[in-house]
Amino acid sequence: MSARGLHDFAGYIFDLDGTVYLGEHLLPGAEEALASLRAAGKHVAFVSNNPLGRASEYVAKLNDLGVHASPEEVINSAGALRLSLSEKRPGAHVFLIGEEPVREELTAGGFVLTDSPQEAEVVVVSWDRQVTYAQLNQAFAALRRGAYFVATHPDVTCPLPGGSEWLDAGAFIALFEAAIGRKVDAIAGKPSPLMLEVILHQWGLPPSECLLVGDRLETDIALGRRAGVATALVLTGVTSPDQATAHPRQPDFILQSIAELA
Ligand SMILES: [Mg+2]
Repeated sequence: MSARGLHDFAGYIFDLDGTVYLGEHLLPGAEEALASLRAAGKHVAFVSNNPLGRASEYVAKLNDLGVHASPEEVINSAGALRLSLSEKRPGAHVFLIGEEPVREELTAGGFVLTDSPQEAEVVVVSWDRQVTYAQLNQAFAALRRGAYFVATHPDVTCPLPGGSEWLDAGAFIALFEAAIGRKVDAIAGKPSPLMLEVILHQWGLPPSECLLVGDRLETDIALGRRAGVATALVLTGVTSPDQATAHPRQPDFILQSIAELA
């Protein structure tokens, strides 16, 4: 448990869906909670595992819903991957299994996208709804040659309204891990601590000064724990009160909703 009170942190990091909004609707009290944190001079950031949601699109959605946010405050798994690769493999030739927003992110980060397994120094695996057997085989060839193996996010499936699911990046990661006989070198999205490390670095704050607020135990709360920040679970998303109290690894705070932060 955290020794701090809920309002005593210097930085607050929020999951979006299920925490700040639910689908297309702002959760009650979110506007007031975020406004009061800002009025108290707190740092605020928003994180998403979805590599296809551009920061500008999240900002537009939040602003439309009545929550002030700026592009520097929003980071998704593709943005975190770009920043991490910029340190580990600056300017590298990258073979991408992924869609246009991830391509844009990598290009903006100074990486050279290539279709050649011989040229590729890095293979980035993300969500890709147009991927072909030839591309999978080329990525496989690049990885067999020893390319650095990274992914935007680990989600194996993507839930759809109505209860069905789509195959997601985690399934591609598993495919390549099975084929090449080694594990992925790094994953940018939750619950990897990479996104939080990027934010804390920007703020210049130690983990002990920050609180992560989210609705999923296995991603949001696990992410907070791995990064060493305090955690608050909200019950407005996928986790029921029974699931929250039964979980072996308890968050520091369990909140009915984000409104308790006001
Ligand atoms: Mg969520």
